Formats: sequence, structure tokens, C-alpha cells
Amino acid sequence: MSHQVLARKWRPGTFSEMVGQQHVLQALVNALETGRLHHAYLFTGTRGVGKTTVARILAKCLNCDTGVTSTPCGECGACLEIAEGRSVDLIEVDAASKTKVEDTRELLENVQYTPTRARYKIYLIDEVHMLSNHSFNALLKTLEEPPPHAMFLLATTDPQKLPATVLSRCLQFNLKNMQPEQIVAHLTHILSAESVDADAEARALGAPSSMRDALSLSDQAIAFGEGRLAGAEVREMLGTVDRGQVLEIVAAILEDDPATVLSLVAHIAEHAPDFVSTLDELASILHQMTIAQTVPDALDTSWPDQARIVELAARATIDDTQLFWQMATSGRRDVYLASSARAGLEMVLLRMIAFRPAVVIQPQAAAGDPPVKKPEPPATPVVREGGSEGAQPAATIAPRNDQTVPTDQTVPSSPYRASVSATDETAVEMPESTPQSSPHSTSHTTSHTTSHTTSHSKDNPSATGAGDPVSIDHSEDGAAPSASESDERGV
Ligand SMILES: [Zn+2]
Repeated sequence: MSHQVLARKWRPGTFSEMVGQQHVLQALVNALETGRLHHAYLFTGTRGVGKTTVARILAKCLNCDTGVTSTPCGECGACLEIAEGRSVDLIEVDAASKTKVEDTRELLENVQYTPTRARYKIYLIDEVHMLSNHSFNALLKTLEEPPPHAMFLLATTDPQKLPATVLSRCLQFNLKNMQPEQIVAHLTHILSAESVDADAEARALGAPSSMRDALSLSDQAIAFGEGRLAGAEVREMLGTVDRGQVLEIVAAILEDDPATVLSLVAHIAEHAPDFVSTLDELASILHQMTIAQTVPDALDTSWPDQARIVELAARATIDDTQLFWQMATSGRRDVYLASSARAGLEMVLLRMIAFRPAVVIQPQAAAGDPPVKKPEPPATPVVREGGSEGAQPAATIAPRNDQTVPTDQTVPSSPYRASVSATDETAVEMPESTPQSSPHSTSHTTSHTTSHTTSHSKDNPSATGAGDPVSIDHSEDGAAPSASESDERGV
């Protein structure tokens, strides 16, 4: 027998072979077993989700020689003919290529004649939303008064385009997208049955798509890898970036290690110089990290590197992952705008180190924060030693200062503190000159507010709540050196 592609070879032949879609299958099985059949079914869902597969199985159920059943035998003439696509009583039409009303009239003109061999004359119309208005009217006439032997199975990716009059005459079933975990599990089963050697990463690479896409991709990858599926080869075939490298980049950012970040970018540039995809992969990892921090149970388990994601998530704060994700997604624009894409990527990654939030702003009352929050750096004690009154902060800053503009940041000990001061400086020196405004303003406000809260609570804990809004207003107006120098806001 000649080679058959995986997607066709493994197309389910019965409802029990289908993965997922239990909500649809259960309703169909019940209808078949109780004999409560409708004359028109509409299957909706995205491409590759299994709409025509369900419709073909339903056709077998209706026409199987053993009688109307939810478990067609798969061996009788009718079942085999349907499986092989040569049943005269299953009329399959792709509406995308037969949109004209003449086509529909021609299709439906024999509907009143009884089926040639089987029990039902079944019309399976795929992409039914492509029909013209006149075609829908012709179809509607038949749907209004269908002969008892006619059965309509309609499939569409876009049910909104169907006239309400047609929709109201169909039983509609919405097929859901399969979860990546389900796709990986099923793919694993199929590949082991096909005795194809596949590693976990290779299997996960096809998972975000549909089952059909995952199988088509596997076919291509098996041919590419000469019968094997290895993650590195699949990546090469797809042109995707090595996820492990991007995980290393995230680790280096969390370590405040710009040298490692740059050397990793250099490595990526040698092997798969696709810098936008690198950012996309980074955003995907940061998204997974945020899920791991907030709703760990919702984490996508189809990736083999899940443990690494959880480990990185524990080393970052929720603020970090949110801000980094924002930088990664809006950084795509920078990669296009930059003189070279690599420079754009490097700037985005270094920005994450430079602007990493210093302290998590915690409401005064929130004593028991979740453990994922970064422990507070020893901010308060250090500020205390820096002095508290009036002009003193500026005087304290001056000696340690390697910046042009003194600010009221008074904590030299923590590496995060230093980077926050740099943030302020940038924002003060060139408030309008960069398109990357949102991370700027975020860090800016964050650091100011934080420092105010700190100094307030130290000076006069009871006045903190009342004083804050005023201080923030000040900090926004006074984004100029003069305002910073005569900084009295904290008092
Ligand atoms: Zn049969």
C-alpha cells in the first residue's frame, strides 16, 4: 500500500476514536440511540478542529448497514464507501468552490429522490458560509420542507455569515479547539504506534496548532529528519528559535547579567538569526511565568521545560514578569525600527535589566503577601541612615552620585536601587525623546511612589495615606532637574 499521510491515516473512524469534543459527541450519540434525529446539523469551529470528521462519522452512523447506530461497524459496504469517499448517497460539496445559485440548484434538484442504496441521502456542505445569498435561499427552501430521507450536515468556520433563517433550521454544534496537552498526548500515541522516534520538544513544537496541523507538521518533520523527530531538527525546519536559549536569556536578565545576555544573543545570531521570533518566544515564556506565579494550576504542561519555567517564575516578581512581557511585546517595534534587528533585540533585553522594578509596592495593610513577591530589599534601614529632613537627601546623594541629576533615591546598597536611579535620570533628561514611553513612565512612577512611601512611613507613619497623592503630583510636574534639587516632597 502506498504511503498515506498521518492526518488521513489517523483520521478517526468512530466517535470513540475522537480526542476531545465530548460535549458534541455525547449529544450526537444520545440523539442516535434515542432516534431523535434532526434533519440538519451545523458544525462550527476553527480549521482543522474536526468538523468534517464528525460529519463523516455521523454519516456512517446514519447509513451503516447494521442500522442507525452510534457505533458504526466500519466493515459494511456503506461504512467502507463513506470511509473511502465513494458513497453515492453521501454528497460532499465544498461551498467555497460552488458558491453560485446554479450550483446549489443543481445540487438540490435530486433531493426529492430516494437514496440509491443507503438509508439517507446525506448532503455534507463544507465552508457553507461561502454560499451566495441566492444559494442560501435555495438551500433554505429545502431546509424548510426536507424530504424524510434527506439529511444536511453543514460545516463552517464562520457561522456569523450564515443567515439567521438557515441557522434557525439547524442544530448547531460548536467544536472546541483541542488543548495543547491533548494534542501532544495524541501525537505521542500516534508516533509511538508508527514507531517514530520523537523527543519531547519535537512533539511540543506542533502543539499550539490543531491536530491536523500537528500531524501534517510531523509528516514533514519525519521526512526532514529521515524518520526521526528531534527538537533541534524540527526547530530548524520551522525556523523557530531555540527555546532553551531564550530561557537562558530570561535567567541572565533575572541575574542582572548583561554580559551573558549579549553572548546569548550572539549565539542566536549565529544559528537562527530571527530576532522577532526570539522576542515572541521570550514573551511566550514570560506569559507562562506569569501564569506560574498567579494560577499555577493553569500552566500549560505540554512543554518539556515546564519545571524550568516554574523555577524562573519563583525568582521573579509578578511586577518583573508583567513589565518584561510588556517590553518584549512592544519591543517588536524596536526591532523593526532599529538600525539592525540584532541591536533592537539587545536594547530590549538590556532595558529589562536597566528598568527592572526595584521594590514591589505593597499596600500598608498587606502584611501577608503571596510568597512569589520579591522580598523587600533592605530599603528602610538604609534610608534611615541617609537622613530624613529637608535638604539632607540631596546632600546624602551627592557623594555617591555618578549621575548628573540628583534624585531622592537614597539607597546605594542594592543593585536594584542603582538601576532605579538610572531610570529616573533617563526620564528626567529626555522626557519626550523616546517612543518607548510606557515602560519609562511605569518605572518612573514606581520608583518615585515607592521612595515616597518609604520616607513617609519613616518620618511620620500616620501621615502616609494623606500625603501620597500630593507627592505623586509633585513628582510628575517636577520632572526637571531644578525641581529635583530643591526636593522637599518627601517631607
Ligand atoms: Zn457499517
